[in-house]
Amino acid sequence: MTARPPYIGRFAPSPTGPLHIGSLVAAIASYLDAKVHHGQWLVRIEDVDGARNVEGADQHILQSLRRCGMLWDGEVTWQTQRYPLYQRALEQLGDLVYPCGCSRREIADSQVNQSLSPHHAPIYPGTCRHGLAPGKVGRALRVKVPQSPHCVLSFEDRWFGHYRQDLTAEVGDFIIVRADRYWAYQLAVVVDDGAQGITDIVRGVDLIDSTPRQLYLQQVLGLPRPSYLHVPVVLNENGDKMSKQTGAIAFDDGSDPQQLLRNAMLPAARFLGLDIQAETIDAFWRAAVPAWAQLLQTLPRQP
Ligand code: GLU
Repeated sequence: MTARPPYIGRFAPSPTGPLHIGSLVAAIASYLDAKVHHGQWLVRIEDVDGARNVEGADQHILQSLRRCGMLWDGEVTWQTQRYPLYQRALEQLGDLVYPCGCSRREIADSQVNQSLSPHHAPIYPGTCRHGLAPGKVGRALRVKVPQSPHCVLSFEDRWFGHYRQDLTAEVGDFIIVRADRYWAYQLAVVVDDGAQGITDIVRGVDLIDSTPRQLYLQQVLGLPRPSYLHVPVVLNENGDKMSKQTGAIAFDDGSDPQQLLRNAMLPAARFLGLDIQAETIDAFWRAAVPAWAQLLQTLPRQP
């Protein structure tokens, strides 16, 4: 048996706005998990989606993390500085990649998507897999997913337990370079996690259905598979994930640490199921690390 490599975790926010309670929950969980395992905790700014970046949000997020007492190991990385790595991965994928000229509308209207529930992301029907139809222009790049047999991937999520997805039937060939020429999240995240030697990914459960796409890319790129823990996500009153888009309110990370503790850190910890009493940020972390270790004993939890 090979020894498990030393724990390296990460928090990977997209700089689409300031940290809010929802993203703070993911940050705290990933930080605590790294601390409990005496590991490193890296911060990577996922600014690959140029259409959604907000200027200055990266620095704002970093400042909030510092104010909360979450100090990262090593240098912060920005995905926009890592394009050559993504380019190399694209070349490595070789013949598995093909150009796609389909619009969202065409995909949504295709036969395979007629009976889907409104919450299910559209499945790619494979239209451009064997070449572009005459008159079509290849805009995005997709990676082929095996068709027969189907590519079925599963993993043991440390929080939610067994998770399985038939990538062929439920997702189809997926985008790695977007029509607007930005690198897609799925490719960038896998390349970065691999290059940074991430062993443990702790993030919101809203990303759990992306995980099989990432497992697949790891397989074809010959990268090791990290372990995953998806934490519940904070929902707003409409049942949507709290995010900048759904109007999540950034917490005030101003000069008063007491307020930061009371209005953001303690509620975020409570949301994770950590019962912590603390009057200072230092005391918060002293209590939170053993509380997280204890919470881990109760996992996985079936939904
Ligand atoms: N950048 C993603 C977000 O802010 C997180 C990606 C990940 O943790 O894999 O939602």
